[in-house]
Amino acid sequence: MGLQLYNQKRDFAKTPEPAGKASKAKGHSFVIQKHDATRLHYDFRLELDGVLLSWAVTKGPSLNPSDKRLAVRTEDHPLSYGGFEGTIPAGQYGGGTVMLWDSGTWEPLEDPRKGLKEGSLKFKLHGERLNGSWALVLMKGKASEKRENWLLIKHDDEDAVHDEKAALKFLDDTAFSIRSGRSMDAIGAGTPAKAQKTAAKPKAAPKVKAAKSKTPSLAALQKTYKTV
Ligand code: MN
Repeated sequence: MGLQLYNQKRDFAKTPEPAGKASKAKGHSFVIQKHDATRLHYDFRLELDGVLLSWAVTKGPSLNPSDKRLAVRTEDHPLSYGGFEGTIPAGQYGGGTVMLWDSGTWEPLEDPRKGLKEGSLKFKLHGERLNGSWALVLMKGKASEKRENWLLIKHDDEDAVHDEKAALKFLDDTAFSIRSGRSMDAIGAGTPAKAQKTAAKPKAAPKVKAAKSKTPSLAALQKTYKTV
């Protein structure tokens, strides 16, 4: 796909997003950005061949293997987008608040280039919030359909959460940035990152970590809901 479409859609004099430049990097990073645009969604991005393959997941990822989340493929993004958090001005493409919700690395379980063409990606995530194995599956649509509709599905493994309420609560419990600790409202208001506030105190733990510890870990969630 390349970055042409990404650059076409944006006016870099008006948006704080990074301009799209191709990269020769060979990494397998992933990032998920919570994006409060026309509709709230989670942008799910997997690095492959120097770009971030991208899908907009309307309801957000679910840890419950019974949930199949609609993931609409969107234009490839530059690798530098993986560090972006902030506000895209109203009136610009994707205008709204962007939060860094998860990041880490992904591990293809099958040939990802072939999978992308054939509409089936199987991979493991090693993120701060999402882990274990997942699949992205292309739904068969009409030839006239312009959008590529995929489904994001959690495989049933030790990182899965079967309890419906717990799986839903997970998104509520993680409604803050992994980078800055900020809520969507705080990012939208331009409130400085929480981590910066604690920087003055010499021995204070980084705020992001402190915030994380308040949230039940996935392991804790699983323990709670499996043993009840
Ligand atoms: Mn988006």
